[in-house]
Amino acid sequence: MKICVMPGDGIGREIVAQALRVLDKVGAKFGKKFETEEALIGGSAIDATGGPLPEATVKLCKASDAVLLGAVGGPKWDTIDPSIRPERGLLGIRKELGLFANLRPASLFPELKHACYLRSDIVAKGIDLLVVRELTGGAYFGTPKGVEVRDGERVGFNNMIYSEHEIRRIAKVGFEAARKRRKQLCSVDKANVLDVSRLWREVVIEVSKDYPDVELSHMYVDNAAMQLVRDPSQFDVIVTENLFGDILSDEASVITGSIGMLPSASLGEGNPGLFEPIHGSAPDIAGQNKANPLATILSVAMLLRFTDDTMTPLAVAIEGAVQKTLSQGYRTGDIREDGCKLVGCVEMADAVLANL
Ligand code: NAD
Repeated sequence: MKICVMPGDGIGREIVAQALRVLDKVGAKFGKKFETEEALIGGSAIDATGGPLPEATVKLCKASDAVLLGAVGGPKWDTIDPSIRPERGLLGIRKELGLFANLRPASLFPELKHACYLRSDIVAKGIDLLVVRELTGGAYFGTPKGVEVRDGERVGFNNMIYSEHEIRRIAKVGFEAARKRRKQLCSVDKANVLDVSRLWREVVIEVSKDYPDVELSHMYVDNAAMQLVRDPSQFDVIVTENLFGDILSDEASVITGSIGMLPSASLGEGNPGLFEPIHGSAPDIAGQNKANPLATILSVAMLLRFTDDTMTPLAVAIEGAVQKTLSQGYRTGDIREDGCKLVGCVEMADAVLANL
């Protein structure tokens, strides 16, 4: 497997270095070889080339089987021309790779339940869900859009629009992901009010005919927002459109209380997927060996699972090693608690490697 590695900025380089040690070790354990090559993105690319997404980076990503990203951005580039800001590199590579599906697991390791914002009786039932969000359509990209003057006052408008093929391909990602998990898919829409949601629901039901082994349910988005805090244990995979998914995926991850723990994947069709932690470049702790590398290590597990079915045992091994490390009491600053073994970025990875 050929992996393009983009450490990016801030803590990006530190956490990616540790994740690559884990990749090497798991490869050696299972007799698999990984070819990794580094590319520039974000602020470090601006410094080296004048732009956040060099052509060489796009080329290398497209020639790879998967892409691993640290994080981009930082105060150094906050005041530069907005058209070449570090985040542009991220948006640009998503566009180049046609990444239309964003997968964000929100799972709570029992060892970290003290960090969860929910009541202990709710947490006791467990949180292990995956939000599959459509990433390239809906109100964020639909036209017409704008602000104009009508009848003497300003009006603002956007268009939540989806064509059948866009719904079908994201629904498939949702069903496929559910197949890899507990085989339950909840499609979230607003079909009681929105026409676009009525089409969404119709197409999801059509796609479900190809997945008789997956149990499909539907939920209105307002109810889904409530159910996520009332009883998140009821969800396995949630599939939804761009705007609803933006809000629900943040809600689902924040309730776990630890952004340093959560990986994500963005997938397209016929192109490599992009795997990255959900957190940013944390400039406040960069270069101090304080970053939690676990979200990036778990992103490597996701990369293996979603890039090649035969790599699933490697993903399971990494996740098991992370869980064991937490149960041994190792904690970085962001997830520290009384009586824990407080460690830095490198030492946390050392512990995961030992458990592998
Ligand atoms: P952030 O996620 O970088 O940091 C928020 C807080 O969480 C900080 O206190 C930070 O120290 C802490 N934190 C984050 N990741 C951590 C980790 N692995 N271990 C320990 N603590 C961790 O968000 P921000 O401060 O809003 O943004 C900082 C920079 O990152 C900005 O330039 C922003 O644009 C960029 N950003 C990039 C991405 C991305 O690359 N995908 C995402 C979000 C923000």
